[in-house]
Amino acid sequence: MKVRFAPSPTGALHIGGARTALFNWLLARGAGGRFVLRIEDTDKERSTPENVEQILDALRWLELDWDEGPVFQSGSEARHREAVDSLLASGRAYRSRATAADVAAWKATHGDERGFRGEPEQDGAVRLRVPEDGDTTFEDLVVGEVRSPNRSMDDLVIARADGTPLYNLAVAVDDLDLEITDVIRGNDHLTNTAKQLLIIQALGATPPRYGHLPLLHGPDGKKLSKRHGAASVQELRDAGYLPGAVRNYLALLGWGAGDDETILSTEELVRRFDIGGVQRNPAQFDERKLRWLNGRYMRELSIAELTAALEAFYGRTALGPAVEISAEKLQTLADFWPLCGFIFDGPVDDPPARERWLGSDGLAALAAARDALAATEAFDVASIEAALTGVVERRGCKPRDVYQPLRVALAGRPVSPGIFETVAVLGRETTLARIDVALNL
Ligand code: GLU
Repeated sequence: MKVRFAPSPTGALHIGGARTALFNWLLARGAGGRFVLRIEDTDKERSTPENVEQILDALRWLELDWDEGPVFQSGSEARHREAVDSLLASGRAYRSRATAADVAAWKATHGDERGFRGEPEQDGAVRLRVPEDGDTTFEDLVVGEVRSPNRSMDDLVIARADGTPLYNLAVAVDDLDLEITDVIRGNDHLTNTAKQLLIIQALGATPPRYGHLPLLHGPDGKKLSKRHGAASVQELRDAGYLPGAVRNYLALLGWGAGDDETILSTEELVRRFDIGGVQRNPAQFDERKLRWLNGRYMRELSIAELTAALEAFYGRTALGPAVEISAEKLQTLADFWPLCGFIFDGPVDDPPARERWLGSDGLAALAAARDALAATEAFDVASIEAALTGVVERRGCKPRDVYQPLRVALAGRPVSPGIFETVAVLGRETTLARIDVALNL
């Protein structure tokens, strides 16, 4: 088996494209086959080196390694021209000056359902001669049988008048030259397949198998777009998801038992994935489910692994102690700084929190907490807990009447990891200094 992922480098790699890449990769890895990366860069304006790099970068982050390529489609132009010439020479294609208006006029006489047929001319664009009779059919690996009556298909343009080969020709020739056995791509390409098959037939070659993946929708049932949250792989990375969790979630979009909350390691996915199990209906991308799944993956990491991931994500060092006390509360890497940034950067400014928790009662509780924390001998979690529960008992108040003012003094806001752990991580000196600042506000 040899499969390919063939993105057009028009910008970021979108989630749908990433799923196509993943399904191809899983098929190749599961079958011991080869996975080729082909960059369809014939649109020279949009195919900038930056756009190509974005695709490679996204695939590397997803850890989808390829065995061959990147093969640049623009590098095969000579082959594409050769194929056009051979089709002209064999009479399977002809030159025609027919314009879009001519095609429209032809249809006005012959009916809309009738494919355009031109007359050979001296020059003009190159059109493939589509047979009059029969159907172009194939057994789609996902969709089942697809049948297009040849009579309804236009003689399609395969090269411009200046000789530039066009899209469907380039794809068909490249798939043959690369000896691709299975073309797995998005449903939006379904209408191209009959055209590519006609080209391959006219070249006298054997076509690959085709499988078209269902579209992705958002949770509201509409076509997936930016409106639904992160839309590209880069955005998923920046939102703090782990590549393994993203692979797991993407695999469940259109494949599996219709359950998109199953934890499956990449090894299991490789073992279990099969193209026959891909559904025909659109799949729903729901970022909340990815978030949940990502949380499960985060929990599987050791503190050392999670610390390394967070340090790489933020470009910081020495995050370990803060990671240890917050790990359970994190669903994504990006959750860490909002929760723990105050440990490193000092309290945030949250006036409503000050107003709510640092009134006269709050300040009195805070002063008592300060005295107790200044007096403990050791400064570990157990002694801190003993000191602070002592304050609660002596004041006869609720725990939060002491802990929330203390949180606001240390973090600036009433949300933090466990209060005893937070105090221990900050250490006595910093804790007392922050309390003093709050007491003097
Ligand atoms: N280059 C096409 C795209 O990015 C894919 C072509 C194909 O897979 O045949 O949508």
